Amino acid sequence: MPSTVSANPLHLVAVTGGTHGNEMSGVCLVKHWLRDSSELVRDTFTAVPLLANPKATENCVRYYERDLNRCFTMDILSSPELQDEPYEVKRAREINRLFGLRGSTNAFDMILDLHNTTSNMGVCLIISEAQRHLEMHVCHHIQKHLPNYNPRIYLYAEPGVELYDLCSVSKYGIGFELGPQPQGVVRADTLQTMRTLVQVTLDFINQLNQGKEFPAFEADVYQRVGHVDFPRAPDGEISAVVHPSLQDRDFSPLHPGEPAFLSLDGKMIPYNGDQQIYPVFINEAAYYEKKIAFIVAEKIRLSIPALCTTGGQGSP
Ligand SMILES: [Zn+2]
Repeated sequence: MPSTVSANPLHLVAVTGGTHGNEMSGVCLVKHWLRDSSELVRDTFTAVPLLANPKATENCVRYYERDLNRCFTMDILSSPELQDEPYEVKRAREINRLFGLRGSTNAFDMILDLHNTTSNMGVCLIISEAQRHLEMHVCHHIQKHLPNYNPRIYLYAEPGVELYDLCSVSKYGIGFELGPQPQGVVRADTLQTMRTLVQVTLDFINQLNQGKEFPAFEADVYQRVGHVDFPRAPDGEISAVVHPSLQDRDFSPLHPGEPAFLSLDGKMIPYNGDQQIYPVFINEAAYYEKKIAFIVAEKIRLSIPALCTTGGQGSP
């Protein structure tokens, strides 16, 4: 691995909220910035707010017909428009056009996508994979500047799986996932934290564009490796709920044999994996329909090279 990687300056940044229409921190902030975007202004680049899923936002639901944040596959983005397609499929293509086409030189430089979770994830910074050095530097910068929030870095893409989220449209992308906050509810503390994350990130981009070099570092990340469904009865109904001793323990280790679920007739059901894991998105409301009780992550230590801008060659 090189000791320093270089990036071109970032000129076009989008801050997106309402990708899921009932995750209210991003919805409220983006609606505010659409009226007054002065908070997003920096010397060296343009940042634009976008309400990603207006129809879901209007109805205060996660999505109208399909989860928008799973619609940014090359298959969908490159196929011709059909009349009776789900709203979000059309919207994904529209966003791809707005942000300059995924994979092209015209693509936006960065998307900051604002989300909330009902899980006790605190401040979670989501990037796709470990090789994303520029995004890793943003996350590290946030961790250094906002240690009281204890921000964690989560890598969502399992190796070999195609990217499908909104952030994949731009050259770089980070999701801010803050919780717990109920769907359809906006809490002032969570909203303020989200706002601060955006400010710190825009400041980082500004400093990078101005030629500041960011030194190499090591960081712990949580890599998604799978998920666990609820225990189910033969008819498919959930037969056990998340165990009280696991609830709210996102990012804490869970060992084989420790309580994972509590059956509706009162029995403890242990985690039956063969090694220690780090559960995240425990009991996330939006994941019931995806048959996910929690996501399984591994904790990994990464070494990230220094970062600078050259205005030219190389890419992190
Ligand atoms: Zn979301």
